[in-house]
Amino acid sequence: MAGNWSMIFLRLFNIQRYSMLIDNYRRQIDYLRLSITDMCNLRCLYCRKMEKKSQMEILRYEEIIRIAQIMGGLGIKKVRITGGEPLIRRDVVSLIEKISQMRLFSSITLTTNGTRLAEFSSLLKKAGLSRVNISLDSLDRNTYSKITRGGELNKVLIGIEEAIMCDLTPVKINVVVMKGVNENEIEEFARLTIDKPLYIRFIEFMPISHHRDFWAERYLESSVLKERLSRSFSLIPFDGPVGNGPAEYYQIKGAKAVIGFISPISNHFCAKCNRIRLTPDGKLRPCLGDEKEIALKKFIRKGATDEELKELILQVIKNKPKAHHFNIKELQTRQMVALGG
Ligand code: SAM
Repeated sequence: MAGNWSMIFLRLFNIQRYSMLIDNYRRQIDYLRLSITDMCNLRCLYCRKMEKKSQMEILRYEEIIRIAQIMGGLGIKKVRITGGEPLIRRDVVSLIEKISQMRLFSSITLTTNGTRLAEFSSLLKKAGLSRVNISLDSLDRNTYSKITRGGELNKVLIGIEEAIMCDLTPVKINVVVMKGVNENEIEEFARLTIDKPLYIRFIEFMPISHHRDFWAERYLESSVLKERLSRSFSLIPFDGPVGNGPAEYYQIKGAKAVIGFISPISNHFCAKCNRIRLTPDGKLRPCLGDEKEIALKKFIRKGATDEELKELILQVIKNKPKAHHFNIKELQTRQMVALGG
């Protein structure tokens, strides 16, 4: 009997926790993207405008852990570690281990450029990481080097194999497709899903901190890619369990994995958005395509209590914008690398 009561109590407690994280548009926010650095070992031409030393004062690990703990208590269920390149921040494995030991999250995932996965995959798995998303925009050594301004494709390919070996699965590969840059490779990427357990996701190029012309000349709609791929493959809509994010999935008949399209511009998914971001310098940002942020770090360093931080977080969540409004005429002030992709 006592068992029954404690189950009922737990259920009510959970319902109360989760209902706190509903915003003004009735969206349940349960996903935190935690960007732990604005530094990266690649300099992708569409992600950062220029090479410059970080000017940011980033959050210390104990501050990140405190925020994660509070957010988990409020009802955030999933955490994604991102950056910049998260695997270049010192002691990232122990950060992940500490977040995992909170036992508050159903998944802890990581977005990485993959260049350091050969060395890190097994440590990450042991620390409690669930799986990885790897950004890879080209399978051609020269194009990859051009896009990343000097990156070595081979390192990423070895990293991908290691992530699969260490069971950081399903491994999802994110490809930002750009006109005249890598669009000629979409068939080759799609073909990978036939034999390999790699979920290939084509992402529309977003106008973040670029000159309008730079973006407009390279932007390609998902529908164009879908149409082109259908000429080479028979794509079957796939609604199996591959995560509850914004991708629309298809499968080539008999393939091991699936192909996803993420269309933030042509078919935005704001009505279903469940995420909130913490930038490396401690700003809580409810929407990637809206420049409003709250400087949590400032409050933490002035001695705010957990209760006060909770109130701030709840306020930010309540006031999450209804939809993004990427401004294609003016630059956003922040680069993607400093926001957390
Ligand atoms: N360094 C990690 C990585 O490479 O995955 C994490 C950070 S990176 C900013 C995260 C993702 O954002 C990458 O997949 C990158 O391709 C994507 N990204 C950056 N700028 C973008 C843009 N303007 N439009 C679409 N995706 C973008």
